[in-house]
Amino acid sequence: PTVQQVQLNKLVQEVVGLVEQRAKYAGVRIRTHLTDGIPWVSMSPAEMQQVLLNLVNNALDAMEKTGGTLDITTRFEDGRVIVDVADTGEGIPPANLQRIFDPFFTTKPVGRGTGLGLSICYGIVKKMGGDITVNSAVGVGTAFHVYLPAGDG
Ligand code: ADP
Ligand code: MG
Repeated sequence: PTVQQVQLNKLVQEVVGLVEQRAKYAGVRIRTHLTDGIPWVSMSPAEMQQVLLNLVNNALDAMEKTGGTLDITTRFEDGRVIVDVADTGEGIPPANLQRIFDPFFTTKPVGRGTGLGLSICYGIVKKMGGDITVNSAVGVGTAFHVYLPAGDG
């Protein structure tokens, strides 16, 4: 994959464009909170798009029956560019939290989920020197945080 100097805000807007229709039909409002002037990140735009798309589609899956709100935030803190993907969906039970990044772990019906999305996200983010964490509460929602090394501080 071709590594480039990627502007996270632009990538987020592209991904939102890709899921807008799906969100509308699921009754999900998407809000973006894009910080101006955050540094570029050195990475493959295609891979980063896949990371964000996997997170956003998981969020939409979690709100499919109920509707809700998806908040996507970009930040720059302590030399790291951060993307937060937060939903008001069903949440993840504590017992599952340690397993969600494992390949083939899924709680979705056969044919709806492969269980590969988050393990692919994890692999991509780690490879580029970043990290991915999650906070979740059942019945409240889930937030994924992607930390990436900034290109030019
Ligand atoms: P898949 O989406 O194919 O099930 P993933 O690796 O993308 O595989 O996710 C693994 C599991 O993590 C999901 O089946 C679900 O149980 C849980 N999960 C991931 N994201 C969310 C979310 N935003 N809200 C609730 N559960 C989630
Ligand atoms: Mg998934």
